[in-house]
Amino acid sequence: MTVLLADAAASRFPVSPRLSAYVNANAFDRPTLVIDVDRVETQYAALKAGLGHADIHYAVKANPAREVIARLVALGSNFDAASRGEIEICLSQGARPDQISFGNTIKRPVDIAWAHAAGIRLFAADADEELEKIAEHAPGAQVYIRLIVEISQADWPLTRKFGCDGDTALRLLDYARELGLEPIGFSFHVGSQTRIADMWAPSLDALAETWHAARATGHDLTLLNIGGGFPAFYGEAIEAPTDYARAVMALVTERFGHVPRIMAEPGRGMVAEAGVIVTEVLLVSRKSERDMHRWVYLSIGRFSGLAETEGEAIRYQFETARDGDPMGPCIMAGPSCDSADVLYEKRPMQLPLTLQCGDRVLIRNTGAYTSTYSSVCFNGFPPLDVVCI
Ligand SMILES: *Cc1c(COP(=O)(O)O)cnc(C)c1O
Repeated sequence: MTVLLADAAASRFPVSPRLSAYVNANAFDRPTLVIDVDRVETQYAALKAGLGHADIHYAVKANPAREVIARLVALGSNFDAASRGEIEICLSQGARPDQISFGNTIKRPVDIAWAHAAGIRLFAADADEELEKIAEHAPGAQVYIRLIVEISQADWPLTRKFGCDGDTALRLLDYARELGLEPIGFSFHVGSQTRIADMWAPSLDALAETWHAARATGHDLTLLNIGGGFPAFYGEAIEAPTDYARAVMALVTERFGHVPRIMAEPGRGMVAEAGVIVTEVLLVSRKSERDMHRWVYLSIGRFSGLAETEGEAIRYQFETARDGDPMGPCIMAGPSCDSADVLYEKRPMQLPLTLQCGDRVLIRNTGAYTSTYSSVCFNGFPPLDVVCI
């Protein structure tokens, strides 16, 4: 298995020539995410190669751009949708209802009814009341029960809010059957940006215990949904996508043997590296003569696409035309009038000392969880623009 060192990997994932050419040839009057749809295709193929017989259900929330969805439909991908809106995007781009799972465990009853009428047959749940809603509005549907992940080593964990414990999950399988639904398996999410495949082992161990207990009590489970978590390169070492996916599948096979149907739901790992954000410096300043660090304010911030800088969890990589100049630490912030709109302060970023207002700044590998996290117009700043090439 190839484990890339950060430095080696940095040069392995520069902004792609296609993205570079487009970015260099164009002016942008507001922060813009440029997506190389061919790069999404490459990534799909790489993940697919490692995932073997598992079906890919792309997690639409990572980036619902129509061009991205359309390309994935053409490639034969399936989709994990969280809302009516996401289901509609997939259907509008030619996905069939049987390629779409309604994977949010917190659904509006009217949306369940709508999805059922639209032909969606596969739903997630982690609570009695959710199963009751599904039974009422999508009678006879197939359901899988989402298990809680207690310990996550992910950079962006999805613990606590979602899933139920193993005993509850077993009880919910029985309850689903009583309600006339067809309980077919389990799901979980290891946590987003789980950088090392081996980090999946504890979650898979817990899942396997519940899986085998369910089979022992007569539930003929056929579906294992291993969720997302496939990483993107943000500067720290990750395995190449095919190696990573293959390693995860090896961990799955060790614990579950042959499972008729496995779903994987990559979001970030599918699209992050296909995107670059073009933004600019608005101000470079110091708060006092004694200030250790410069403040660099960009035209994009926490509320206009960079929500994952919360807690400085995701550390993006920046590229400027002055990267050959001497570098120094700085605190980075967004343009809005909210003091939470600071991107990196605890661990300052290194940027060129010559940086100044008007300089273009590229933010690498930002194809996931940026356009969808951008506010509509906070402080009058327009939402992140998206261009697919
Ligand atoms: C967000 C989400 C995903 C995608 O997670 P990534 O870490 O981006 O791969 C997959 N499945 C579910 C249920 C999700 O909510």
